[in-house]
Amino acid sequence: MIEVNEKVSGLIYQLKIYMPMDPGYVFSYVIREGNDCLMIDAGYPNMDLLNPLINRLREIPNCRVSTLFITHMHIDHTGLADELRNRLSLSVVMHRRDYEQVMKMMDRDSFVRGFLELSEYYGVPSTEMELYRNVTSNISGRRRMNSVNPDVIIDGEENHIGSVRVLLTPGHSPGHISVILNEKGIAFTGDLILPTITTHVGLTPINPGNPLLEYLNSLIKIRNIGLKCIYPGHEGEICNVNARINELIMHRVSRLCEVLNALRNGELTIFEITKKLRWMDNKGYVDLDPMNRYMALTETAALVKYLESMGIVKAGNDYKYGITRDVSCNIRELIPQLG
Ligand SMILES: [Zn+2]
Repeated sequence: MIEVNEKVSGLIYQLKIYMPMDPGYVFSYVIREGNDCLMIDAGYPNMDLLNPLINRLREIPNCRVSTLFITHMHIDHTGLADELRNRLSLSVVMHRRDYEQVMKMMDRDSFVRGFLELSEYYGVPSTEMELYRNVTSNISGRRRMNSVNPDVIIDGEENHIGSVRVLLTPGHSPGHISVILNEKGIAFTGDLILPTITTHVGLTPINPGNPLLEYLNSLIKIRNIGLKCIYPGHEGEICNVNARINELIMHRVSRLCEVLNALRNGELTIFEITKKLRWMDNKGYVDLDPMNRYMALTETAALVKYLESMGIVKAGNDYKYGITRDVSCNIRELIPQLG
């Protein structure tokens, strides 16, 4: 159920933890820092995993975990945080922007209502409303069953805790953090950068504002550090960090272009744009299961919101978007902050 791999001898241990949702497993990490050990993320919230996880941690020589960093609020990363604190008396660290969203999700009715209010803006037809009511109710229900109560709530863009540097890298969630070991040139980046999967960046009641802008800025922030290797929450380490970041930026550019192409033949709602795009395994929206429909719709909303913030598209009173400033599908035009 849990495998330990020593990634950098005596320094970085990867815990591979199986979970019953895509992509099948999630990684936690243990890092040795002086006489202490630090942990990144707390696995999937399954009580059957708790004792095996504690046993694996005890097998790491001379390593008392004092601090557990939660990269972001999703349940496959907050996992067994509360139970680990109770058993190992470690201190759980989380960013305030994510903790506030966790609190918001505890009130199921207001979370569901918040999404249904957004659905009008997305242009979701009444025939799809029941599906979205169920999906959001399930998301909130899972969160309520698996609470997380941080001991240390951090604020702002950058924090230094012991010898590690903690950077706010939002986009996948508003308070997503990356833990950087500067002198070693490595970082633990949660779900910000994955080797083959592209991270979900969706505009939702718990990821409000302009999440795609935040996500692109987070990628640029990590790229500017010039790291040797990063250790993400899924799939495996990445040692061609900036090349992977460039691919991820290009992926978003091509998605932005797909949205613009869809709009060239006339105005559309966010829901109508979602139906024109292709999704995982090249599926159309109607072939997706309810959870993936939610992901597709909210991801389209984030793309549209980004284009809107750039003055490229605009909605009328009927929530139909049209192009207001024609741009070519050019990386510099679509992401001017790249310089
Ligand atoms: Zn994840």
